[in-house]
Amino acid sequence: MEINHDIIEGMALALKQARHITVFTGAGISEESGIPTYRGDDGLWSKYDPARYADIGHFLHDPTYYWNFFQEVRYPLLKNAKPNKAHLVLAELESKVNLKSVLTQNIDGLHQEAGSTKVIELHGTSRVIRCIECSKEYSIDDAFEKAQCNNPPLCTDCKGLLRPAVIFFGEALNPDILQHAFDEAATCDFLLAIGSSMIVYPAAQIPMIAKQNGATLAIINKDATPYDSRADYLFHEKAGTVLAQLTGTGIYMFTKL
Ligand SMILES: [Zn+2]
Repeated sequence: MEINHDIIEGMALALKQARHITVFTGAGISEESGIPTYRGDDGLWSKYDPARYADIGHFLHDPTYYWNFFQEVRYPLLKNAKPNKAHLVLAELESKVNLKSVLTQNIDGLHQEAGSTKVIELHGTSRVIRCIECSKEYSIDDAFEKAQCNNPPLCTDCKGLLRPAVIFFGEALNPDILQHAFDEAATCDFLLAIGSSMIVYPAAQIPMIAKQNGATLAIINKDATPYDSRADYLFHEKAGTVLAQLTGTGIYMFTKL
């Protein structure tokens, strides 16, 4: 489907005039970087069951399963994944419009790698490894080396179990981070939602809070979402395709208002 240029220009103008833009991203934005979703069933990824590697109960019962998954799948994926056009345009937009925050459900760190500086990670990050006893942090490279010698890898200082700094299934989101995200949704006058189906909590709350507070809502998602009928701008497209078009609009010719 061809993207209507007038609609892109209209959205660009609305973004330009917005005083507080909040971006909200989900797995769809990282698919174009080769990060499969949980439901993706290609190759090695399907060898491991997310109900086991991403669940806190299973992790504590048998951490070797996660660390096998980490060594075989997640670590190589994180090392190879590069930000795509959508990540890069969002990073550039910080200097073009009043973009105040990027709320993300993703744990891949690709927004930061693209250059975004205002990222709020609702589900933590898989790029940081932490000791469950003393909270000492390790890089994924350190953890990979440790896991190759000893599975599960243990903290150098206290011999505690190492875990990724992500929110597992069965764990609560960090209440401070969640509140920060909800505040951003309530304060913004433009919410740009990208690559999230916005069905599950808290993703479903964010567009609702924004709309209740009068924000303009733009949705870019390959599939339909429950908020499509309330969107001011709606694109059932890949994130990179739509955001690439923004770079051809007036946003890129003028400095911030
Ligand atoms: Zn420790």
